[in-house]
Formats: sequence, structure tokens, C-alpha cells
Amino acid sequence: MDAFANLFRDCCNAVVIADHQSKIVFANKASHMLFGDELSVLFERTSSACLCKVNADSQSPIFSPPFEEVLLNKSFCDREFLLRASYLEEDRWLTITGHPFILPETNFKGGMLIIHDITHYKKTSFQESEALSYSNEIGLVNHAMFVDRVKHALIRTQRNNIRIAILSLSVQHRNTSHKQYPCPQNDKRLLEVIDGLKQVLEPEHTLSRIRENEFLILVEDVISYSQVTAIAQDIHTSLLTLSETRTVDYSGSVDIGISLGSHCCLDAETLLRQAESAMQESKQSPSKQYCVFEDPNQTDISNTLYLEIALEKAIANRELFLEYQPIFSVRHKTIIGVESLVRWQHPEKGLLPPSRFIPLAEKTGLIIPLGLWVLEESCRQLKQWQMTIPEAQQLFVSVNMSSKQFSQNSILEEISNVLQIVNLSPKSLVIEITESVLIENSSSIVEILEAIRKMGIKLSIDDFGTGYSSLSYLHRFPFDTLKIDRSFLENADSDFEKLEILQSMVRLAWNLGLEVVAEGIETQKHFAQIKALRCESGQGYLFSRPLKSSAVEALIKQQVNNCSSLNKADN
Ligand code: C2E
Ligand code: MG
Ligand code: MG
Repeated sequence: MDAFANLFRDCCNAVVIADHQSKIVFANKASHMLFGDELSVLFERTSSACLCKVNADSQSPIFSPPFEEVLLNKSFCDREFLLRASYLEEDRWLTITGHPFILPETNFKGGMLIIHDITHYKKTSFQESEALSYSNEIGLVNHAMFVDRVKHALIRTQRNNIRIAILSLSVQHRNTSHKQYPCPQNDKRLLEVIDGLKQVLEPEHTLSRIRENEFLILVEDVISYSQVTAIAQDIHTSLLTLSETRTVDYSGSVDIGISLGSHCCLDAETLLRQAESAMQESKQSPSKQYCVFEDPNQTDISNTLYLEIALEKAIANRELFLEYQPIFSVRHKTIIGVESLVRWQHPEKGLLPPSRFIPLAEKTGLIIPLGLWVLEESCRQLKQWQMTIPEAQQLFVSVNMSSKQFSQNSILEEISNVLQIVNLSPKSLVIEITESVLIENSSSIVEILEAIRKMGIKLSIDDFGTGYSSLSYLHRFPFDTLKIDRSFLENADSDFEKLEILQSMVRLAWNLGLEVVAEGIETQKHFAQIKALRCESGQGYLFSRPLKSSAVEALIKQQVNNCSSLNKADN
């Protein structure tokens, strides 16, 4: 029997061996922990304990000592029992496997029981079934129905090329343990939470409760990542408001995981697993309002949803950086300023130009933090040059701003804050906006632009001629500079009509009192052209491509030493 003792001593299941006379010859540690001094309950009912077999159909317990059958030479496997005893705080659910056996060398005849305590699993599944039936009563879909809806939604994505999202939520109440049987107090809280969630969700969203405090939400017809993250943020806000208006404190207690999918890449089960896994990650990151499952197979940047996720991270991870393109005085051929141009050093895709991500950032609203970062970084860089190179005092930095940024009420305050933080004179800043700003924000834009100008900042209209602004329209806006789009310079020497347009644009600018910057000066011919047109300044590959800040710094220093730097700068 020593061999058994060694084998089962530390086993987590209870193991008990008895001989054919019902005498226990071996019981391991786990069995003593489970039965205490009541091991005889395995043979008979005792004064303080009883072991009942559970009928699989009715779940009604029948008194049945497991060793009785084993010692009658019968074996059984994973049979369910309920242990009720006065020394236990609560009933224990057990599965027991019993085998009769003989050891010929020692003439041993008896049987062995292997006992597994499954109380924890029983409780969980009880809670789940309670939760499921409850869900039906309060009009939420149950888990099976939810999965079914996800499957159907995925089929729909096949037809109309949209995406779906699943949000997995875990709501924790303060001072309440997560695993609890439903009780009236919890029910009240639960109804409040469901109420809070329903306030955020649209009728077409599907809400399901899958465990005591866990929910799933299906969002169909997803067009952008921010649409989904906005729902997650609204859920936080809604539950926070609940905690302020009601007795229950939910603050900081919602963990949200998000998974995104379309039919071509995911099935319903995978999508649910991914949302759950992101929710677990969110539990580990208390500072995050939500976590999004990142599928390593789906980093295709042409997929706008994933590009959006990556771009949000890029801003946080500082994968974005600025290049600066010098702007030259046509007459003196010297640098008078720089235009900052954003780039994205994507960890897998390499260097991405703004055309690959600015339109999406504009569509999703990410342009607001991105644009603010560009503004601050540009101003900081110019200030640094001004502090280290005395001749850089007169330089300006020209920053591109998007129409979305002008739809914010706080734009003036933000610009002024940046100048204050960086300690840059407003005279050193030029803000470039395209004609779309004028069209998209036409009612309020005049006042905003005038206020910016009052601050001492210059305004430049970018890519002029490519939008829809009519000439009469233009005079209403307080610009200082007009940047003629490079498409007008292309072939202007051979295309007479283009030259005519170019000439009238320059004339128009003068009539409106604006300076002219010519974009896209690539050749000596272009340069001769804009010189003949008497444009004040220009930028283009002939002078310099957009450069890293260190290269621009070298160029400024070189100009200080050598006024004829123009030819050398053409690299
Ligand atoms: P943009 O403001 O008109 O910037 C000029 C673009 O023309 C830059 O392209 C520049 O690299 C390019 N360029 C300059 N000289 C020449 C030349 O001689 N020949 C040719 N073929 N191209 C030249 P980039 O950097 O790709 O930027 C494209 C556009 O992206 C910008 O046009 C601007 O509208 C937008 N953008 C760039 N950075 C930002 C930013 O920080 N915020 C916003 N809102 N938009 C930005
Ligand atoms: Mg520009
Ligand atoms: Mg431009």
C-alpha cells in the first residue's frame, strides 16, 4: 500500500482505499480535508454527514454510500454526489469514480474511490443559468440568441461590406464580490446597470447578459473604429452618472473589451473570444477605459478600422514625426520660413506620407489630437532654432490645420496655450488652411480667423485654386498669404492657358493685398516663371525637399555662412 501512499499523497483529488471488510487502509490529505473525521460517510450515513447520489434527470439526491457498490465488485465513473454535513459551511458537489481491485502478491481485496470536488463549477453554472433565465425576463437576449445574431450579422457584412463589433463588459460594484448568487439587492443594482447601458445603446444594438455581472453588446453596421470606442466611452460616462444619482458606486468599475470583425476574417466564436480576451486585458490596465483586441493577422492598413486603431496608438507611441520644407524668398534666395509636414514611421509598413492617414484622421476625429501635437511640436522646434541660431529669429513656421480643428470651440484657446507653453511669438507662426475650411465652417469661421489674426498669427490659404472658393468669396476672409497649388506651375511654360490662370491668380492676390507663395518649384524653368510673375516666395524640390529637423538646422547654419546656399540646398 506504500506505493499508493506515495502516488496519491499530494494529489488534489481525494483518494480513499478500503479493504473488503470496509476498513479504510489509505486516505490522502485531500480526503481528510474534504471529509474531516467523517470518512465513514463513504460507507454509511453518519450522525452528522450524508452522501447522496444525484439523479441526472431530476437532480433530486438519493442516499447512496459509494463504497457499498465498489465492495460489491461494481465500478462507476464520474458519478455525481452531494455531501451534506454539519461540519461544512455549505453542501459540496462531488464526482466520484469507484473501482474494485485485487493485489495478488499481498492478497489484498478491496476498492478505491477518487473524489473530485466540483462545487465551484456547479455554482458558476448555476449562476449562469440563473443569469440566462433572468436575461429573458428583462428583455435581453440570452447567450445562444446573441451568438446567433452575431452569425447573422457576419453574413450581412458579406453583402454590404461593412463591419461589426462586439463589446464584452464586466461591471464590478464596489464592496461587492463578483461571484454571488443573485439576491434582491443585486437585482436592483443589476436593473440599474442595464438601465445605464440601454441609455447608451441604440435600438439596433443587441445587449445580452451572460454571467452575473458580464454583458455582451453587438454593434452592427460599423463604419469607423471611433464609432465603437465612443460607445465604450459613453458606457463609462453613463455608469458613472448612475453612481452619482443613485446609491450604488460604480466608479472605475467597468472593464470593456472590443473585437472587430467582418465575414472574411472571423467567425462568431472567435470574435466573442477576442472580445473576452480584450476585456481581461482591460481588467489588467485600470488606466484604460477599454481595450481593443488586436488581431496580428489584420494589420492591413487599407482596412480603415485597423488603420484607425494603429493611428490612435501611433499618436500615443510617438511614431509620428515632422519634416520641414524650407520656404525661400524668391528675390534673395534665402530661407524665410519652413512648412511642417507630418510623417508616420509605421512599425511594420515603414514610412507613410500624410496622404495615407490624414484623410482618415480627419474622418474619425483623430486629427484633433494629431493636429494639436503637430502645432506644438512645430512651434517647439522653431523656438529651439531661434534660441540656438540668432539668424533664425526672423524665420516662421507654417503649420497645416484641418477644417475639423476649426469646428472645435476651443481652437483659439489651444493655439494661444501652445504659444504660451513654448514661448513662441505669434509673429513666428503661420497657419495654413485649405479652401475646405471656409466651405465646411462658413458661418463661424470668419470670426475665428479674425481672432487668430488679432493674436498676431498669419493666415495662409493653401493649395489655392484646387477648391471651390470663388474670387468674391475670398475677400471676406482675413488671409495674409495665398499659396498657389503646384498643379498650376506644372507645364505653365508650355501651356498658355495655365500661364494665364497663374497670372490672374497672382494679380488677384495682389488686389486683395495678399503675398504669394508658389508651391512645387521643381525646375529652373518653374523658378524663372514665378520670378517673372513676381511671386514673393516659394517652396519646392529645386530649393529643398522636406527635411528632418537636423538637416534644416544645418541648412540654416549654412545660409548664415554662405548667402549663396540656394544651389547647394537642392538635394
Ligand atoms: P501641402 O500643405 O500642400 O504640402 C505640400 C506638399 O507638397 C508636401 O507633401 C510636400 O512634400 C509636397 N511638395 C513640396 N515641394 C514639392 C515639389 O517640388 N514637387 C512635388 N511633386 N511635391 C512637392 P506631403 O508632405 O506629402 O503633404 C501632403 C499634404 O498633406 C499637405 O499638402 C497637407 O495638405 C497635408 N499635411 C501634411 N502635414 C499635415 C499636418 O500636419 N496637418 C494637416 N492637417 N495636414 C497635413
Ligand atoms: Mg501646406
Ligand atoms: Mg499646398
